[in-house]
Amino acid sequence: MSHEHPYGKALNVLSFSKDNKVLIDEDAMKKMFEHPDVKNRKIVSFSIIGAYRKGKSFFLDYCLRFLYAHYPSINFPNNPTSDKENWMGAENEPLSGFSWRSGSIRDTTGIIMWSDIFLHTSTVNGDKIAIIVMDTQGLFDNQTSPVGNSRIFALGTLSSSIEVLNLFSVVQEDQLQYLQFATEFAKFAANDSHGNAGKSFQKLVFLIRDWVNPDEHPFGFEGGATYLQHFLKIQNEQKPELQSVRKFIQSSFEEIDCALLPHPGNIVTGGSRKRIKYNGSWGGMSEDFKDELFAVIETLLKPDDLIIKKINDKDLEGFEYLEFMLQYFQIFQSDDIPQAQSIYESTVEKQINMLVESCVENYKETIYKNTDLITNVTQIPIFHNMSKNQAMLMYNESKKMGNISHEIKFSRILSEKIDKIFQEWSDRSEKNMKKIEEETERTRLALEEK
Ligand code: GDP
Ligand code: MG
Repeated sequence: MSHEHPYGKALNVLSFSKDNKVLIDEDAMKKMFEHPDVKNRKIVSFSIIGAYRKGKSFFLDYCLRFLYAHYPSINFPNNPTSDKENWMGAENEPLSGFSWRSGSIRDTTGIIMWSDIFLHTSTVNGDKIAIIVMDTQGLFDNQTSPVGNSRIFALGTLSSSIEVLNLFSVVQEDQLQYLQFATEFAKFAANDSHGNAGKSFQKLVFLIRDWVNPDEHPFGFEGGATYLQHFLKIQNEQKPELQSVRKFIQSSFEEIDCALLPHPGNIVTGGSRKRIKYNGSWGGMSEDFKDELFAVIETLLKPDDLIIKKINDKDLEGFEYLEFMLQYFQIFQSDDIPQAQSIYESTVEKQINMLVESCVENYKETIYKNTDLITNVTQIPIFHNMSKNQAMLMYNESKKMGNISHEIKFSRILSEKIDKIFQEWSDRSEKNMKKIEEETERTRLALEEK
């Protein structure tokens, strides 16, 4: 069941065709991330992932309510008009946003982004931030293949800075295996010879629904923390593979949290005998669930706790995020599941490539700025060398991913690109110079004739 939302819609940016091909809506993504209010803002990417029919979209729709009450957005810039305290809306307000439903027919599968983007300026350091919200759909239903599941998990992890892993009742060992991709990826990053010791991914939040042991671990983040501690503890009697999955999850994410939610009550789960058609409003939730749900969302999306998406410790802006995402999505279009290693490799290449491009820009800017200062052909190579040195220094001193062979390979590429631009520029400058010299000569001769 879903009601129209006034400010945004769910965009299925990555979906699967009947024969399991990956389809990408590149235009929709470009429209979002090349938006003038987004392309140069730092991206906070908030996503939820986990088995189907477990209240993921339902949860996200309440997150949207919180976000709309606290931040202006592209489509609703004059927000927030509502009072922040009452972000949850009216008791009987139907729930809209990402499509959630009680039936057994599934919605679209893949990765779904909220078309509207929230804008925030950090009160801590003034960072300009764009918050995107992402839903995933179709995991572990009977129509999505294991390959499809792994793809969504891997892409979800790659694209988020805050990834909520939605689980039922307890954390099950087999659900952890889907985080294996993240841990594999992190292993390659750990071997990065540039010594980028930072962890590959930012924040992972285990969200446990229908928690039945509040006496042992109370609801909310508090009980979640003790439960997680107990769960992630590496113990000698555990099988080696269970130990290593714990170890690597902890080495892949900068922060791991957990929150426990109670059962939402029969109206929400559709088990009510009264057979009323539930519209998602909080009036239908059990008192416990409602309070815990709201508290969890308030903690999770607290303005100063928003975490910016990073690659190689660098905050990503909208236009960079778009480039990385399109590249990841394309890698996943191949029929085999890409290996963490090959995704890591292409991340390295993309990162250094973007650095090379900005060094080339730097070179271009300096030489063109200096063109007017040149009065003599012999100055051209001097200006070139000065500007090139400056660009190469920028490259050498910037943080890079990968190993020494990447470093050398891209240093050569940068040098060649600069030389090519120099050639064009100096040809033009020389011609200009000649013209000026000829003109001066002509004027001189004309003067002499007089
Ligand atoms: P998704 O497939 O994971 O996105 O699940 P939906 O958000 O579409 O919700 C599926 C069903 O679960 C709906 O009928 C919701 O009312 C119900 N639901 C929402 N939250 C919870 C919860 O915490 N526990 C349970 N058992 N059901 C929930
Ligand atoms: Mg859903």
